[in-house]
Amino acid sequence: MGLLKVGRPLTWEESKAHLQYVREHGVVQFMEVYNRVKDTANDDLFWGDEVEYAVLELTGEGQERSVVVSLEGSDIMQQLRQREGELHDPSRNGCTWHQEYGSWMLEGTPAKPYAGFVTDLLEVETNMRLRRARILAVLPDGKIAPTTTNFPLFGVSQFTSPSSEPHGPIARSTYVADTCINPHPRFGALTQNIRSRRGSTVDIRVPLFRDFATPEFAASSLADKPPPSAIAVPPRAQDTPTPLAPPPSSSAAASPSLDFSSHRGYMAGWPVDWPEVHMDAMAFGMGCCCLQVTFQSRDVMESRWLYDQLAGLTPILLALTAATPIAKGRLLDSDARWAIIAQSVDDRTDAERGIDAAAPPDPQMAGGGTRRIHKSRYDSISCYLSEDTPDTLNDIPCEVDEELLEVLLARGMDSALARHVAHIFVRDPLVIFEGNVEEVLDATATDHWENLQSTNWNTMRWKPPPPSDPAKPCSPHIGWRTEFRSMEVQLSDFENAAWTVFIVLVTRVLLVFDLDLRIPLSFVDANMHRAHKRNAIAEQKFFFRNCFSPIGSSHCQSEVEEMTMEEIMKGKGDYFPGLVPMIYAYLEHINCDALSYQRIDMYLTLIVERALGKTMTNAAWMRDFVRRHPDYKQDSVVGPTIAHDLMKACNDIGTAALQPKELFGSLAGRLDEVSAGQAYGSPLASEKVSADCRGELIRRIVTRAEGVGGRRRSNSSHIAAQERKSQYLHEMNGAAAAGLRDF
Ligand code: ADP
Ligand code: MG
Ligand code: MG
Ligand code: MG
Repeated sequence: MGLLKVGRPLTWEESKAHLQYVREHGVVQFMEVYNRVKDTANDDLFWGDEVEYAVLELTGEGQERSVVVSLEGSDIMQQLRQREGELHDPSRNGCTWHQEYGSWMLEGTPAKPYAGFVTDLLEVETNMRLRRARILAVLPDGKIAPTTTNFPLFGVSQFTSPSSEPHGPIARSTYVADTCINPHPRFGALTQNIRSRRGSTVDIRVPLFRDFATPEFAASSLADKPPPSAIAVPPRAQDTPTPLAPPPSSSAAASPSLDFSSHRGYMAGWPVDWPEVHMDAMAFGMGCCCLQVTFQSRDVMESRWLYDQLAGLTPILLALTAATPIAKGRLLDSDARWAIIAQSVDDRTDAERGIDAAAPPDPQMAGGGTRRIHKSRYDSISCYLSEDTPDTLNDIPCEVDEELLEVLLARGMDSALARHVAHIFVRDPLVIFEGNVEEVLDATATDHWENLQSTNWNTMRWKPPPPSDPAKPCSPHIGWRTEFRSMEVQLSDFENAAWTVFIVLVTRVLLVFDLDLRIPLSFVDANMHRAHKRNAIAEQKFFFRNCFSPIGSSHCQSEVEEMTMEEIMKGKGDYFPGLVPMIYAYLEHINCDALSYQRIDMYLTLIVERALGKTMTNAAWMRDFVRRHPDYKQDSVVGPTIAHDLMKACNDIGTAALQPKELFGSLAGRLDEVSAGQAYGSPLASEKVSADCRGELIRRIVTRAEGVGGRRRSNSSHIAAQERKSQYLHEMNGAAAAGLRDF
């Protein structure tokens, strides 16, 4: 989560005098970096994931049971960092722990990025499991840390431990206390300055789910429309193949006519009088956990090209990983988090959001604070980055700072790159630290560039190499990287690994087979809207390119077509092979070894079953869990007992103690459990133990063997191995019994 400087952050009023300086020098610092490293070539593939966790506490019993967020993310993180340093050789199987916005959250990454071998693809799940095991190892009793996108009771009465009161001076929220914000000064300043720049508390609105007895709908014009079916059962995909016919030219999709000027943002997809869930603090959005993947490119051009290629996949994977059906104690009519975060950090003034054209400009702010800006700082990308991407694909508003654009062009930046940077700089810097303005040297530091770069949270992020640190001469070289940022964190490590591996393989497929996924950005944004819709995989189609050949090649008539998720993943007719078959072709091409293939095949099976609607998204599964709960009253209210049971189930899915068939389909029961005992590995002990201890160990195993008796079988390989050991001793009972005496 960006740079964590120490020092005193300036208030918004204090910052104003420095905004222009930071913006101008941010661009200069970017150009310094760019010119220094633009010719870096032939870097290897390195890549890594980021997973965010929420620390929760299960409270009460019986009908008094509930769950709260435990505001101790920083303490847990400190313990994890300490143990990492003390107990572990960080060059092998290490994890790195990062601060997150919420004081109940933390982020885990591999200590070292993975490299470009097939076996590295298997490392990712191993490392994710290790991270979960290590968190389990430090969590106090009664605490859990599931990988749920958001906390269902966030903002509902007393939802924190220790208890807290809203209406603090930082967020000024009616629902959320300031203690929910990470105590590092950067996070409070970010919250306060977003609110101050905007001129009001953030205003988050998400559509409410309409169930049979949802009271808000009784009074609305929607009252007489039929409610959704009692329990949403995922539709079963037809197994009939799609007819083999070339696409008629009429199938070319018309450019979607979305009202991008609407200040209703993602709510624009719902009727104006549709009841909403209201939230008013940055923590509702930045408190959402996600799954991000960063990969290093060979050189700057490849990183820009991959940025463009993957932009179109961001809504597709948002829909497939959708995991946010609840907020502020209510079921939502949407399934994904993105719109919540976009609104939660929306620092645009009324004039910039297009609702007060007459507001007087403030000359210290970017664009006087009155330039119309169509998207939040946290949103989908607004322009492509590659020089060879046809400009016709940049068909949505993309505001730029005209003066900085001129500077960039005058210094030799190509127009696509200059536009990308000048678009980032239509925003103001949000957190400036005292003594860190003119003191920052443009030739060696990048603080001002990073200030804007790290607070433009788009679906893709292009990451230029950081400056080398003279204090760390042995630090590894870091090249041009691209980050894929739209995915929602999944409940299990298996799913998180599957999506991570999928994205990494898609980058190789694109490069090796020279494919092209770029479509006009208006279609990408239309997909983004659709990805938020409830049950989007089954009920929405998505705009996708129906020809994989590079734009402009003579191999096919490139057209954008609406496709089902099944078609995007598995192919359509004889003209569109689909992403998953291309990945299998790539695995064939690289002669993937059998062991790796087996696991990758499991990941692809998960993905295909989800795309086909044979299994549920995390969001659909959670919604279903709530609606089937005995305490649910069909009123879209997720009460404390339901939230308790849901979070416990989500945690059990995280440890693989629970593997619902609705989520894992044919893979249910095949995933290994994660436990605290796996956190740091078991040393092969060499110290002698007493005869009593030895006897006790053998007694335990024999007792277990008698319980097992060779009959029970488990799907977990760990338990199966335990059982094999016990069975063995059971069969050799005589010798084992002898061991009880003298061995
Ligand atoms: P962010 O700024 O997105 O929060 P992080 O520092 O949390 O970035 O790291 C993102 C991921 O990038 C991690 O998984 C890390 O292992 C990975 N990573 C680190 N160095 C490289 C590199 N040179 N190339 C690709 N990925 C890298
Ligand atoms: Mg993070
Ligand atoms: Mg990070
Ligand atoms: Mg990241």
